[in-house]
Amino acid sequence: MLEGTSGGVFVTGRVEAVVRYTCNRCLAEWSEAVAVDLSELLGGEGDYPLDGNEADLEAPLRDTVLLALPLLPLCRPDCLGLCSTCGADLNTGSCPGHDDEPESPFAALRHLLEP
Ligand SMILES: [Zn+2]
Ligand SMILES: [Zn+2]
Repeated sequence: MLEGTSGGVFVTGRVEAVVRYTCNRCLAEWSEAVAVDLSELLGGEGDYPLDGNEADLEAPLRDTVLLALPLLPLCRPDCLGLCSTCGADLNTGSCPGHDDEPESPFAALRHLLEP
């Protein structure tokens, strides 16, 4: 424990990573490159402790990238999501519609296939 070192190390830089997204509505997956500006105080009063003179950048890098990601990613802004009855991807139009039959035979079949 060193006394009188209140500063820590201020790290700035640009983080580039490829992030795997899952659409919050239709569960489609895709990868996207993100670039995030990092500015983090290591040690001192910052969130990340210094281990001796070694700065572990993994945690602040990971947190910075995670913070930059959308909480509810969507494959596209107007994504229609999945049909709540049959689970079909409504973006593809593969759902036949269920106006008169809330529980179709296909829905029962799907429950069997996907417990
Ligand atoms: Zn989607
Ligand atoms: Zn449907």
